[in-house]
Amino acid sequence: MARIQIEGLSKHFQDGDETVVAVEDLNLDVEDGEFVVFVGPSGCGKTTTLRCVAGLEDPTMGTIQIADDVVNDEPPEDRDIAMVFQSYALYPHMTVRENMSFGLEHSTDLTGDDIERKIQETAEMMGIEELLDRVPADLSGGQQQRVALGRAIVRDPKVFLMDEPLSNLDAKLRAEMRTYLQQLQEDIDVTTVYVTHDQTEAMTMGDKIAILNDGELQQYGTPAECYHEPENTFVAQFLGEPSINLVEMDVQNGTMSAGTFEYQLDGRLADAVDADSAVVGIRPEALTVSTGNSESDTAFTGTVAVVEHLGRESNIHIELDGIDVELTVIVDGRPSLSVDDSVSVHVPPEAMHVFDSHTGKVLR
Ligand code: ATP
Repeated sequence: MARIQIEGLSKHFQDGDETVVAVEDLNLDVEDGEFVVFVGPSGCGKTTTLRCVAGLEDPTMGTIQIADDVVNDEPPEDRDIAMVFQSYALYPHMTVRENMSFGLEHSTDLTGDDIERKIQETAEMMGIEELLDRVPADLSGGQQQRVALGRAIVRDPKVFLMDEPLSNLDAKLRAEMRTYLQQLQEDIDVTTVYVTHDQTEAMTMGDKIAILNDGELQQYGTPAECYHEPENTFVAQFLGEPSINLVEMDVQNGTMSAGTFEYQLDGRLADAVDADSAVVGIRPEALTVSTGNSESDTAFTGTVAVVEHLGRESNIHIELDGIDVELTVIVDGRPSLSVDDSVSVHVPPEAMHVFDSHTGKVLR
């Protein structure tokens, strides 16, 4: 097992006359045995960071340590890592057994019997022992991905690096493999960095998640911390489906207001909000809806625009009175609301996230 320390990592590419900043001043530690997910939109620098850790890219600046050794100058094969990619990258003409043993024959510490035993043990753990004599073309996508994982595990690496390993699988298989990978991680406990653009994978699999945007780290913490205590509007919007509601508020004499909503800032917020506007974020599940116009100050009034029935819950989209904002509210089961109903949307003050309207940073 091994800790990974990334310090001041930047990677710039030259594209003709232009410099592309793929990663900028990234700092984070992955502890021994931790499963960390790098997540963010396309082009945010996830893969480049992973490739720097793997030794497939040279950092422009910064250091990478694996097990307390600076590895910047070590080639990938000396870093004791195993990578699993989106494309399974199995050798098509080799059987599963040969794919798994490939490269291990050159290990000076392992006899042929050792290798066979390790393959057998890993194949049992992965549930692929029946497949050892087949070639990749005779396997399903999910089976091929298990073989690719098995091939990584059998090497006993210090670190696993995985780049979107499940994105070629259909939704059902992806969900199965997600659970499977989580169990596997608990069993073998190897430090893992996992890259995905899928927030569900990040939220369900990561001990911690690193949310990246435009090459910069936006937040690093447990999935619950990032979801419930987002540090900026980017993180708040990136996590959660349907997305968090963001409403621009006027701030006058310690009171925030928008449309029919009014809230007297107190304590920590009164000190933190020192501009004449702020952005308030409220998760759709934190809001409640009632019919008619509420007298409460901490409620918006509006009109139901769309009702989406999802079975266990429904999403209600509400156009607010007086301001050009549509709120989404999640309600349990089958609501008795219909399009064009006049409603009030109640905001529990403790559910509000308040952000600086210029920088997007949370105000505490
Ligand atoms: P995706 O989810 O789409 O794979 P990503 O978050 O993994 O995206 P990267 O592949 O790390 O993003 O790319 C980050 C940025 O660096 C992008 O703007 C990309 O175009 C650029 N980039 C990556 N590799 C190169 C390269 N070899 N030459 C030039 N630019 C590159």
